Amino acid sequence: MGSTPTGFRHAFPLNRRIQIRLRGIVQGVGFRPFVHNLAARLGVSGFVRNTSSGLEIEAEADSAVIERFVEDLLHEAPPLAWIQDHHLREIPVADSHGFAIEASQARCGEFALISPDVATCPECLAEIANPADRRHEYPFTNCTNCGPRYTIVRDIPYDRPSTTMASFRMCKDCQAEYDDPSNRRFHAQPNACPSCGPALSGALDEVRRRLAAGEIVAIKGIGGFHLACDSRNADAANRLRARKRRSEKPFALMARDTASAEDICRLTDGDRAALTSPRRPIVVLAARDPALWQHVAPGNRTLGVMLPYTPLHHLLFQNAPYSVLVMTSGNLSEEPIVTGNEEAGERLAGVADWFLTHNRDIYMRADDSVVRVIEQRERLLRRSRGYVPQTIDLARETQQILATGGELKNTFCLTKGRHAILSQHIGDLENYETLRFFEETLGNLKKLFRVEPAAVAHDLHPGYLSSRYALGCGSPPIGVQHHHAHIASCMAEHHLAGEVIGVAFDGTGYGTDGAIWGGEFLAAGYRGFERRAHIRYVTLAGGDTAIREPWRAALAWCEGVPAGLAEIPEQHLRIVRRMMETGTNVFQTSSCGRLFDAVASVIGLRHRVTFEGQAAIELEQIAADGEHPPYPFDFSTGPLLELDFRATMTQIAGSSEPRPVISARFHTTIAQAIAETCRRIRADTGLDRVCLSGGTFQNVRLLSEVIPLLRAAGCEVFLNEKVPANDGGIALGQAAIAASLLGES
Ligand code: ZN
Ligand code: ZN
Ligand code: FE
Repeated sequence: MGSTPTGFRHAFPLNRRIQIRLRGIVQGVGFRPFVHNLAARLGVSGFVRNTSSGLEIEAEADSAVIERFVEDLLHEAPPLAWIQDHHLREIPVADSHGFAIEASQARCGEFALISPDVATCPECLAEIANPADRRHEYPFTNCTNCGPRYTIVRDIPYDRPSTTMASFRMCKDCQAEYDDPSNRRFHAQPNACPSCGPALSGALDEVRRRLAAGEIVAIKGIGGFHLACDSRNADAANRLRARKRRSEKPFALMARDTASAEDICRLTDGDRAALTSPRRPIVVLAARDPALWQHVAPGNRTLGVMLPYTPLHHLLFQNAPYSVLVMTSGNLSEEPIVTGNEEAGERLAGVADWFLTHNRDIYMRADDSVVRVIEQRERLLRRSRGYVPQTIDLARETQQILATGGELKNTFCLTKGRHAILSQHIGDLENYETLRFFEETLGNLKKLFRVEPAAVAHDLHPGYLSSRYALGCGSPPIGVQHHHAHIASCMAEHHLAGEVIGVAFDGTGYGTDGAIWGGEFLAAGYRGFERRAHIRYVTLAGGDTAIREPWRAALAWCEGVPAGLAEIPEQHLRIVRRMMETGTNVFQTSSCGRLFDAVASVIGLRHRVTFEGQAAIELEQIAADGEHPPYPFDFSTGPLLELDFRATMTQIAGSSEPRPVISARFHTTIAQAIAETCRRIRADTGLDRVCLSGGTFQNVRLLSEVIPLLRAAGCEVFLNEKVPANDGGIALGQAAIAASLLGES
């Protein structure tokens, strides 16, 4: 080969030209410069361009070079890229010269995957820290490897004019970076600098000073406003809680860096990986000294901590006396997070002492995501900023479907092709503002992904706004039972086919018999389920009040009035007993959440809650370490297996053991009851895969006991990872079920 005259190749060209189509997250992640540089390095001619379904490349060179080009293309892609699939085909040689980046092409009906928002990368951070750099201390620094994405994109293809950066005209220097294929900012759509980009509304020094002095500052972020204050200042945190009307829910924290997080929490390797990932979720961590943090997370031994994810966040901590800030969503009570400057001025006026805003608009609101590392895997508790709109692979083609989710912690789900497109956390669908957020997000995702649903799946509960929306939107409705949806969500993300044993434990879900379910054992596939066992029904008095007042659950589970209810006024007890006896305003429930409520109340831990799950969380938090014997429990024999915990409750009501021991023994009891029930169902059905889903399975203490028991009984155990085990994940289950029903009908 070495002696071959160079002219020989031109005389007898052995060139090939191929077209390569890539799908996945290939836009807004530096893919085109990567392709351009690769082509230049290997001497390939042709072009690359964004299309509305991904990336299209035409490459021409001799056969060996083309093979090398394809190999490197697929295996050396930029860090944030994700190639879902690729198609190659030979096309006629065009004798092209050079390699071009061509204008984007939009095709009707196709769609490209938009990247989630990405935390500031190390290169950008280095520039911000460098006094000689033109972006020194510039709060909106970003590049193709980092910065806002989903929250600023109005339409596809992902180009600057279709983002909220359209109104900023790049200066000469920024434009040169944007046009230079060898530059890290080549085609970085949100590219900006101090002379041409967005600017803050006020001085950072002032904000740092006010935070240090104990003031509450509303700070505009990526997906909405945060309300911030110094986390060590209990007075400031309490003021924030009172002004925000935020019941007793824990506040999230933002720590300066991993070391600052390590100062206040014990971190595992998995925690550290989750904290520092470019998605930058809030990570639920074990507090070193929970007593110090009761103003942040009342009744908890854990803290939700995240690290800075925008240049502005990093600058907030620069030369500041504080190392950890409270950073809670900028909203009132349960309303959606605030995004607009004017909106913030109006709605947060009574909450914040000071505002730090800027003029880069947020198009899509998105709260911070929350994860917890369980069994060495990162598990989503709230899926939002940094994760959305990355799709979840359904492992098969589906029709286009909308699933409207549940009521609490609502998310919805669209399907197209093999993709499940789960919305960001919408919140509790209980008011007009949240419903509007639902509709605005639905409109946006339908547009970005070009979806026109052929059917709409919904929860069976007739009163949920999500159900009413589904029934009123004009597409054929498909009702899905709540706990079936929980189990299907777990099956779908693990690509499980056939049937499984589904254990769905939570607070509330509408059953097919009109009762409120929540302690369910199902033999389930996508197309249907058989209820095999459940927690025994009890009669609870008073609709939603029964959830807010755990002592009512205690009355339902116990004979007479347990001593632990001594502080409940006689008259209230009498009225509720009377309601239960006469069947006035009562409902039947197998809810595991209410069983936890009953225990929390009977031991005098908590008789009233301000948010769903609060009593159960506090009961878990106090559980003593180590092994403790279970209480007795019974199975009834009938057409359906029923788990009866009346004997458990009687023992607890009469117990003089310390609360932490009672809590530990109760957790062990539930774990053993679940394992024993699964063992029996396995013997009857031969099924040996168990999916655990529903809000109760966010209880780490319970999981740590039940998983080994199930494995010892020969079962394979599956938990939710990519979507929450709570109601934030049921839209995925509804979609998977509807897809299966539509696909085979
Ligand atoms: Zn960067
Ligand atoms: Zn500029
Ligand atoms: Fe649920």
